[in-house]
Amino acid sequence: MLIDNWGREITYLRISVTDRCNFRCVYCMPPEGLVWQPHDAIMRYEEIEQVARAAAEQGVRQIRLTGGEPLVRADLPILIRMLADIPGIEDVSLTTNAMLLEKQAEKLAQAGLKRVNVSLDTLNTEKFARITRGGSLVRVLRGIAAAENAGLLPIKINVVAMRGVNDDEFMDLARLTLEHPWHVRFIELMPIGNQQPWGPDFPSPQDAFIPIQEIVEQLKPLGLVSENDAVGYGPAIEYRIPGGIGKLGFISPLSEHQFCQRCNRLRLTADGYLRPCLMSAVEIPILSALRAGQPALPVIKQAVAAKPEGHKLATQAAPDGRRMIQIGG
Ligand code: SAM
Ligand code: SF4
Repeated sequence: MLIDNWGREITYLRISVTDRCNFRCVYCMPPEGLVWQPHDAIMRYEEIEQVARAAAEQGVRQIRLTGGEPLVRADLPILIRMLADIPGIEDVSLTTNAMLLEKQAEKLAQAGLKRVNVSLDTLNTEKFARITRGGSLVRVLRGIAAAENAGLLPIKINVVAMRGVNDDEFMDLARLTLEHPWHVRFIELMPIGNQQPWGPDFPSPQDAFIPIQEIVEQLKPLGLVSENDAVGYGPAIEYRIPGGIGKLGFISPLSEHQFCQRCNRLRLTADGYLRPCLMSAVEIPILSALRAGQPALPVIKQAVAAKPEGHKLATQAAPDGRRMIQIGG
């Protein structure tokens, strides 16, 4: 088993398969994009599998693929099959902007993908194009429908909460759960590499943060009923609207102090670093070790041992260095 210095068991590996993306979301990337890693600096599928297999032998059960946009990487179903076939791996899921999901959903499901999380911050077509700088809401909604048809369930919808951007839509986004069996999850905006102005139509990034408690308050008129029984739940605090068929989740990496206590994950970046914590700059190189013929496990153990107790983002700025898209959100 992989147990860190604070007694947390590591059972979840979040793998970024690319640092590239077909969107340029204002809170994630500058409009001109970033300097992408050269092709041979990116982990090959066999290398990712090697890390996942070593992690699974030590008790990792869940894998989530992310990026960048994972669906821009060629032949993703091949990787999914490789990962789903690893003994001990019970769940392979994907976080995507869903722009390319309509065509790929069926193949992904056939390869062994269990579920998808789709990022969707607004239901307004024009605003969607502005936030994502080029995304199409219609295509994303078609992607979600295709994922439902392919059985990639439950569909989780990730909404990054931003004051002056989408806070007028929280009620409408929450009400999606009345008619759809989706889990709509509101996520606090994290100050990771996105503190430069987003453009003339947007508030200052420093003003855009909304604490999750404020969103819960705003949605209380919907009659929210708590879904969390006791301790032991994941990073989302969950509610249901009476009569609704979906769920609401609230994820507060910044303002909820228990968030880190429940952390069970390691992250693998597309260019081959294990990142013990999203919000600490520590990274342990694993791709260079693999390419030097060394085994993955000692590096995994080193990364687990380097997991900090928690982050200090509520009182301190994010560490310099990589953006969310380069780490794998
Ligand atoms: N491209 C995929 C997508 O957008 O779903 C996967 C990668 S993206 C980095 C993963 C998640 O991180 C998305 O749900 C996105 O909204 C979220 N995200 C990106 N930057 C963020 C930030 N600064 N604060 C909070 N969430 C962020
Ligand atoms: Fe791309 Fe996802 Fe970042 Fe948006 S949040 S730019 S879709 S990686």
